[in-house]
Amino acid sequence: MRIVFIGPPGSGKGTQAVNIIKKYKPVHLSTGDMLRAARAAKTEIGLQADKYMSSGQLVPDDVIVGIISERLKQEDCQAGYLLDGFPRTIAQAEALDKMLAEKKTPLDAVLELQVPDDELFRRLAERAEKEGRSDDTPEVIKNRLKVYNEQTSPLLAYYGKKNLLKSFNGLGTVEEVFARIETILDSLQK
Ligand code: AMP
Repeated sequence: MRIVFIGPPGSGKGTQAVNIIKKYKPVHLSTGDMLRAARAAKTEIGLQADKYMSSGQLVPDDVIVGIISERLKQEDCQAGYLLDGFPRTIAQAEALDKMLAEKKTPLDAVLELQVPDDELFRRLAERAEKEGRSDDTPEVIKNRLKVYNEQTSPLLAYYGKKNLLKSFNGLGTVEEVFARIETILDSLQK
């Protein structure tokens, strides 16, 4: 399966991505994880990305598209993958479409985890207190939600038009939310 997984910061996307990987075994392609690894290794891309990440801004499209296009060429991606945190802008979605059209490997679905903004802010503030993540201060949280609403949410209409969008409710327990995902993914496999 080739799936894009979209959800605002604090929606539980990371947790549900792990559940999807465990059960359906696609390769997990998280651009956030790739950037954090690059930053920890102090590569040039990692150091460049850091200033955007720590203020809740998006890393420039050409950097991210370069990372993903290299990654998608690797052998392990040929059997399917879950794109987690990419694309995040229309320009990234168009670049992805172009790559997939060249390879004749279209997406199967785009999953959207829906959680209202006030609940997201509450969850993110709670996480900030517990984990002390540098990108979880109230200012940065506000910025990440704003960036999502302005730059990423237009992807919903973009994929809706292509009949790929499967939106579901992200409220409830982890198990309840995963059951909704299973219903969607099982129906794709039939
Ligand atoms: P995430 O773990 O997916 O929330 O990503 C953490 C941070 O990495 C984001 O706040 C962005 O600064 C950056 N990032 C991750 N994925 C992308 C992307 N597709 N486009 C631009 N920036 C990204």
